[in-house]
Amino acid sequence: MSRLEAFIDRMVAQKRLLEHTARLIADVPGPVLELGLGNGRSFDHLREILPGREIFAFDRSITAHPSCVPDGEHMIVGEIRETLKFCGPRVRRPAALVNIDLGTADETAELAIVHWLSPLIAERVAPGGYVLSDLALDLPAFDVVAKPEGTEACQHQLFQKR
Ligand code: SAM
Repeated sequence: MSRLEAFIDRMVAQKRLLEHTARLIADVPGPVLELGLGNGRSFDHLREILPGREIFAFDRSITAHPSCVPDGEHMIVGEIRETLKFCGPRVRRPAALVNIDLGTADETAELAIVHWLSPLIAERVAPGGYVLSDLALDLPAFDVVAKPEGTEACQHQLFQKR
């Protein structure tokens, strides 16, 4: 399989997984947190499949296409290690879904992120809420949820808070 084909498979699987998770949170109140706005692709898809759901995006800088940047109230700029901890007054309610796409290919950097990010995630998610993550988070108060068929090419893990 060429790298182009592998990329396409991964994107199709990620789209399916986002749509599956959007269905799972139908009865879970609360906003969606998008950690890693990047190009704004997953943010744009989430707002399309979750009309009416409040979505906050986090990133250290804004590099997305202007049409895929949330309004000022919902774009939280800065290091997630700081902004996620102190976003309470703005986000107000526990999240129904946190979608994490922080994209590092470095194993050591990833372990370091998992160390500080896991407890921050655990305190931000509503009971029954979901986390979709490209990092293998350490979330003892969550169950790992099986992903649906056809999403194997996407490495993201799905968790639900008990
Ligand atoms: N979900 C995006 C999309 O679909 O277009 C792609 C996200 S991209 C892979 C990862 C983003 O996470 C980058 O824009 C980067 O700036 C951001 N990021 C990574 N680590 C971060 C951190 N510790 N704090 C803030 N932003 C971070």
